[in-house]
Formats: sequence, structure tokens, C-alpha cells
Amino acid sequence: MRTGVFGGTFNPIHCGHVLLARTYAAALHLDRVLVIPTYLPPHKAGGQLAGGCHRLNMCRLAFEGDPVCRVSDIELRRGGKSYTIDTVRQMNVRYPGAQLYFPMGSDMLLWFRNWAAYRELLRRVVLVAHLRTGEDAAPVREYAAGLAAEGGTVLFAKAPVFPVSSTEVRALAAKGRPLDGLVPESVAAYIARHHLYTPAAGEA
Ligand code: ATP
Repeated sequence: MRTGVFGGTFNPIHCGHVLLARTYAAALHLDRVLVIPTYLPPHKAGGQLAGGCHRLNMCRLAFEGDPVCRVSDIELRRGGKSYTIDTVRQMNVRYPGAQLYFPMGSDMLLWFRNWAAYRELLRRVVLVAHLRTGEDAAPVREYAAGLAAEGGTVLFAKAPVFPVSSTEVRALAAKGRPLDGLVPESVAAYIARHHLYTPAAGEA
């Protein structure tokens, strides 16, 4: 099974994330994409981090009925600092034989040798770097060639960038402004129902 692993804080999940996951699923002919909200201790995230339970619920709402994208609570259950290598090892046990595809921004790729156990990660996953339109791809391709020389596989994909960020969504929610078109409707309703990202919001 060709399996995408798409991690993020998803605080909250927005239409850009949904579009990206679906674009990768189609472009890489993935059989499934596991959407994985990262556990982050609230004291490290600076205030407006919704509890893991809320972030998980919103991801589930965003992908409800999606035949390919599924939400996994693997990192939230594990707690602590979310190292990709730990998640990937768990995936290899849970889905033996699955080829894991790991999409990331090209800025993240250029940092890859600093990741915990990166050589092992290179053996376990196919990296997919997304290049933004107009971006100078030369340094990224050179870095990727170095990783390939170390035995890794790096693919390149053009991914759409939907003009929204979780930061923007939180700022609008804090002012009680509508979130139409920025997050799925069910997610907007969830944010309103639970008063998330309002100045007095509690954590889950
Ligand atoms: P924040 O604004 O809180 O920093 P974010 O919107 O960047 O959050 P993350 O949860 O950090 O969201 O992102 C998870 C992944 O989604 C990252 O790989 C990021 O590159 C990608 N991503 C974020 N926003 C978009 C977008 N608008 N379009 C496409 N991909 C996106």
C-alpha cells in the first residue's frame, strides 16, 4: 500500500491542508494518506494551542467521508516530543510492507540532516519535497542529490498553496469573524461551538 504521512500542528486544520493532502494523494497515486496531528505541550506552543482532542476532532471532521485521507492519533497518544522517526517506526510495525511517502516543504527538506536519526528515516520513507512556484529549486535539488547519494529517495512535487494559515484562522476566530472558505464548514461550526481561539478559550 502506498501510504502518505502528513503531519502538522493543525491548530486548526484549514482548507490549505485539506487541498494539499488530496493533491498528494492524487499526484502520488496513494492508497491512503494518514493525517497526523502532532502532540505539542501547551507550554511550548505559546497560548493559542487548542487541546489535542479538539485538533484531532477537527481533522476528523475535515476528512469525514474521504475515502483516502484518514486521521491518526498516533502522535497524540504517544505524547511528549513528536519525533518523526518514532512515528515512522510505529507505522512500519502497524502497516508492514507499506511504502511510506513523507511530504514536506522544501524549506524543511533543507533542514533534514538535522532530524533525529535521519539516515534511518531515509531508509524507511520516500521524501516528497514540494516546490513553490517561482522558488529557486537549485539548492533544494542539490541537497536532495546528497540525500540520494546516502541511499535516500527524494521526489519533487508541485503543490498548490491555498492562501490561508492556521495563524490567520486563529486571529479571525479570536475576533469572532466568519471563517467561511478558510476552513471546512464543519470545522468552523466546531470552533464556534467550543469557543476555540477566543481570548478566554480553555484547553481540552
Ligand atoms: P501556523 O499558521 O499555526 O504556523 P500552518 O497553517 O502553517 O500553521 P501547520 O499545521 O503548521 O499549518 O502545517 C502543516 C503542513 O501543511 C506543513 O507541511 C505546511 O507546509 C502545510 N501547509 C500549511 N498551510 C498551507 C497552505 N495554505 N497550503 C498548502 N500547504 C500548507
